[in-house]
Amino acid sequence: MKKCVVLTSVIFSLIMHSCGLRNDRHIAARPVIVTRGEWQAATARPYKSHKPVRITVHHEGTLIDSTKNVAVFIKNIQRWGMGNDRKWADVPYHFFVAPDGRVYEGRNVFTAGETATEYDPSGHLLISCLGNFEKQEIPKKQLDALVALIAYCSRKYDIATDSLGTHRDHSGKTDCPGKNLYRYFADGSVGKRVKELQQ
Ligand SMILES: [Zn+2]
Repeated sequence: MKKCVVLTSVIFSLIMHSCGLRNDRHIAARPVIVTRGEWQAATARPYKSHKPVRITVHHEGTLIDSTKNVAVFIKNIQRWGMGNDRKWADVPYHFFVAPDGRVYEGRNVFTAGETATEYDPSGHLLISCLGNFEKQEIPKKQLDALVALIAYCSRKYDIATDSLGTHRDHSGKTDCPGKNLYRYFADGSVGKRVKELQQ
């Protein structure tokens, strides 16, 4: 009887392994990332290096829907940010999450980001969700991709999930990332889902 139980458990574990079921959560947490080459980014200028120790979520602030050409939209953010208005080294954020759930690579993760408010973004890994979530709801695909990206970045760059926050947690001068996204941080659901993906 004992042998049978052991054999059954060995067979079960072999089936689990060969089906890849053990890795489901791991795979689910690894988003597909549109590279800078794919959205035709300009070369970044040199800028202050940093080590990200916390993850901070923003919204981009412009109303958007899934019909928008996101690659062109991000290219325009880069053109504006590197232009005379701001003179930044690159796009301000390390990642962008589009309404359709696609993730776009932003500036080098080991380069400090940019802000128009008073907090110092050094040490922050900045993720921006495209849209204005003061005015619109966040699509489910976009929120799911944000959760997966946070889980991925936390593991890849060894950043504690307890460090997770939003722009308004670090600055009193902004509504960013908008009430319709912020509520998923305030109720703890984003943090809970990130931890579930990492188990
Ligand atoms: Zn912000």
